[in-house]
Amino acid sequence: MTQTALAGAGAAGTETDAPAKPVRTARPRPAAKPHGQWKVDGKAPLNPVEAWKQEDDGLSVRHRIETIYSKQGFESISDDDLHGRFRWWGLYTQRKQGIDGGKTASLEPHELEDSYLMMRVRTDGGKLTTEQLRVIGQISVDFARNTADLTNRQNIQFHWIEVEDVPEIWRRLEAVGLQTTEACGDVPRGMLGSPVAGIAKAEIIDPTDFLQEIRDRFIGSPQFSNLPRKYKTSITGYPDHDTIHEINDISFVGVRHPELGPGYDLWVGGGLSTAPRLAQRVGVFVPPEDGPAVWEGVTSIFRDYGYRRMRNKARLKFLVEDWGAEKFRQVLEDEYLGRKLPDGIAPPKATVNGDHVGVHEQKDGKFFIGAAPFVGRFSGTQMLALADLLEAHGSHRLRTTPLQKVIALDIPKDEVEAVVAGLDEVGLSARPSVFRRNTMACTGIEFCKLAIVNTKDTAIDVIGELEVRLADLVDAGALNEPITLYLNGCPNSCARIQTADIGLKGIVVPADDGGTTGGFQVHLGGGLSSHNREEAGLGRTVRGLKVAIHDLADYVERVIRSYAANKLADE
Ligand code: SF4
Repeated sequence: MTQTALAGAGAAGTETDAPAKPVRTARPRPAAKPHGQWKVDGKAPLNPVEAWKQEDDGLSVRHRIETIYSKQGFESISDDDLHGRFRWWGLYTQRKQGIDGGKTASLEPHELEDSYLMMRVRTDGGKLTTEQLRVIGQISVDFARNTADLTNRQNIQFHWIEVEDVPEIWRRLEAVGLQTTEACGDVPRGMLGSPVAGIAKAEIIDPTDFLQEIRDRFIGSPQFSNLPRKYKTSITGYPDHDTIHEINDISFVGVRHPELGPGYDLWVGGGLSTAPRLAQRVGVFVPPEDGPAVWEGVTSIFRDYGYRRMRNKARLKFLVEDWGAEKFRQVLEDEYLGRKLPDGIAPPKATVNGDHVGVHEQKDGKFFIGAAPFVGRFSGTQMLALADLLEAHGSHRLRTTPLQKVIALDIPKDEVEAVVAGLDEVGLSARPSVFRRNTMACTGIEFCKLAIVNTKDTAIDVIGELEVRLADLVDAGALNEPITLYLNGCPNSCARIQTADIGLKGIVVPADDGGTTGGFQVHLGGGLSSHNREEAGLGRTVRGLKVAIHDLADYVERVIRSYAANKLADE
């Protein structure tokens, strides 16, 4: 019986004077809001960011930087350009110095920034020559107060850049084949590539030409200069997985097909931030000659079908989650490639830590040496000294890695120990402690507007403490596996905390005096195959477990001691 019928019966048949209950009629459900998918919903912008992206392409701001902003100064920059299109050229505003992390959430963005810029230089695949290193180092000295951090996407990041200097910096970078094009923004950002591409003895396939082709054809092209959001690529042919392929939007992982030979297994939809997802295998084998077309097809799917209405749903991972791998493959093959791809085979399991730290023999009999700075912190003067060191030993090539390390290539056998010693003098250790080797930190409060805590200095302090406090475990051989410790300055995940054994997310915590202080929310138990894990997994938040910065070394020591005492034989 319907609600209306019940109401009618009561009104007619009741002997009381009580008023009849109001009649409830079923309301039509509102139509589901469109996701803002260009191919489904049309291109009308559904939020202000999509509006300015369509109004004027992000890449177009370069002309204004060269002709107006660099001449008239910071105050002349329009808001849409400063907080939007500048990213398409690797430029962000930098945090104003001296603002307490506890105030980050309560201040307006413009109150948190000053007139200096952060600039990111893309080094796809981490490839650098010593000539390029010298140019970056000198730019750092001349324009960036000697800052030149190594990011965990193989890029170099300057701070303290003034807009007046940007054209000269571009001129110097481009003279040696470097660029800041699309280093940030809703575009294909700097692409991860195996840092030992073309040199590792164990390599299944060398991805160098593949990566170079997609960079040359598509970076800076209007074809992909307006994606729904950022888009991260990784390509490796190294069997021990060195490009964190599980957490990129698109990844190609080297495999050897029993009939078709070396090629790639395709993964899509990985990403972290506040809604982490591991990538899914699409189930196709990509022959090397098809790599660029498949990259173009997947990127086109993201451009055309990606969700644009809500910024926090605009990453490829949400589309992949809704579609599933099967539908994704069908759309890729039917709508974008116009042909079927062979079925894929799963990549081999990683067997060693994919950070490449230490001394390793190359295919050609020379050696490469992977070395660790402290949590990616580096400087222009260190870069100039590193270029001198390598050239003095006959090397002209190096690589940066997705784990904030540096690899010196092409070292003759009898020069190895001299280079290892020289690297130490430059501030890079080829034989770092387990703690220095496996700790990463994001930019943090020194320069990032969103940060709540200081990450890099905190991490460096904790590394020093652990090296002393846990020396007994190290000496006893109880910590031979990588134990990763990653620090984020805020709830975003630039340092990939969900993929660490111990992941720390910057927050405000209660202080002993009744006020608040900087601290971390703890995640435990994450790991990727680049950390030599059989199966990738995301760490879990330990509910209610928060630790103040001044208690951090005590806490991490307790966790590691507990792990060492209780771990299983094969753990
Ligand atoms: Fe900034 Fe947060 Fe990213 Fe760290 S994790 S660099 S604090 S946005």
